[in-house]
Amino acid sequence: MTEKLPPVRVRFAPSPTGRTHLGSGRTALYNYLLARQTGGQFLLRIEDTDQKRYVPEAEQELIESLRWLGLEWDEGPDVGGPYGPYRQSERKEIYLEYARQLIEKDKAYYCFCSPQRLAHLREQQMQAKQPTMYDGLCRQLTLEDALRRVKQGEPHVIRFKTPKEGSITVRDYLRGDITVENRTIDDYILVKSDGWALYHLAAMVDDHLMRITHVLRSSEWLSTFPLHGHIIRAFGWQEPVFVHLSVFLKPSGKGKMSKRESAQLLQDGYSIFIKDLEQLGYLPEAVVNWIALMGWSYDDKTEFFTMQDLIEKFSLDHLNPSPAAINFTKFDHFNGLHIRHLTVDELARRVKPFLLKAGLRVDDTKLIQIAPIIQERLVTLDDAVEMAGFFFRQQLEYDPTLLIGKNLSATESLKALQESYDLLCNLTFDEKETVETALRNLAEHKGLKAGQLFGILRIAVTGQSVSPPLIESMLILGKDQVMQRVQDALKRLEGLVQSSVS
Ligand code: GLU
Repeated sequence: MTEKLPPVRVRFAPSPTGRTHLGSGRTALYNYLLARQTGGQFLLRIEDTDQKRYVPEAEQELIESLRWLGLEWDEGPDVGGPYGPYRQSERKEIYLEYARQLIEKDKAYYCFCSPQRLAHLREQQMQAKQPTMYDGLCRQLTLEDALRRVKQGEPHVIRFKTPKEGSITVRDYLRGDITVENRTIDDYILVKSDGWALYHLAAMVDDHLMRITHVLRSSEWLSTFPLHGHIIRAFGWQEPVFVHLSVFLKPSGKGKMSKRESAQLLQDGYSIFIKDLEQLGYLPEAVVNWIALMGWSYDDKTEFFTMQDLIEKFSLDHLNPSPAAINFTKFDHFNGLHIRHLTVDELARRVKPFLLKAGLRVDDTKLIQIAPIIQERLVTLDDAVEMAGFFFRQQLEYDPTLLIGKNLSATESLKALQESYDLLCNLTFDEKETVETALRNLAEHKGLKAGQLFGILRIAVTGQSVSPPLIESMLILGKDQVMQRVQDALKRLEGLVQSSVS
């Protein structure tokens, strides 16, 4: 058992530029777990300074996805907190102020190079097969000169003045020390010509001001991690613990999921987007359990975790930095496990919206009776429509030839069903055993296998060849409705017999 940390301050810092997917969900989850485990705080910070890539609906979807997963934040744009604002677009002046401080410390500089010059430089470097980097032309300018040009309104950016000698070592919690030669690190832009800070500056400033102790973020930031180390050290700030999480690969394990592949997935009833999973009938508990184990394990054998279990057992030391392939078969398995973990009332409550969406008139009392008999069989909540829709339909639609029992003729099936009807007429539908025994005796008496008779009855009563346990279903439907359905089936069978005779 690893030692528990003192209360942490962690943040989930998404950019609302697209849909919220499993990867973001997992980053948010790990941050949340660490905060709850240690009694610390979990912050939501919206990184929306990239006006060009901003998608207004993305933020709404993000908030809904996090809430659906059960990841409530303690500080954030909507709930406030002592270190706000928590929306980067409301912090423009703060970043500019810190950029100016870096300039004063000679750790950053104004750059007036035109986009044309930079494009030309890039082309030349590419032709010469050199790394494409800024050549440092404006590093030479005196601050006085630069300030004069800024005052005159000349377009400019602010760049970080990366030391050109020596190296830097930054430490990732999972990968250990990472050492990089400074000359390979570009003079990255910190503030663009429109005055907006880029991630490298904005996130470091915010993490400092918001007293973040642990940064759990995607490993796409590993390549610029040394730059972040430089920026933090240029200010002389305390460094948070950095943890770069493993990447998700497509199910084949080969590469990341493309847009086209994500669209294809939806046709198969899966998705990498959290919001879709809700619609597809997955439980948030199952999503949480599944993504928690994509990059973290407890003991290599325990697979069922509730959020509370995860809060207790999660540990940074058991994170795995290797890429994880998304495995939807496992996901279905987890969903089944969590469906079976629900109370009957809760299952009924969760299944109901799917039945309603399918246009069924749901009777709550019946639904509570149905829940336990479908609980074992559901993979997703919307399977209930196919499995148990017949309970709520007025009229069953099915192919009458399905009423012909296995190895029986239509006439024999009609006879068997007629005798079942007569038998059922004399029974009360109170006890499963009584009904079942009576029907089994009838089958035996007629020299039929119970399966043959039950097969015919199953179609008559449910309209489907696969259903929840038949006798239980009949008891829930009630005698009146069962008799009516059997009568209806008898008519259909008679029709078949007549048409085969004529
Ligand atoms: N806004 C960044 C992103 O969405 C956040 C990275 C971080 O967690 O620091 O990729």
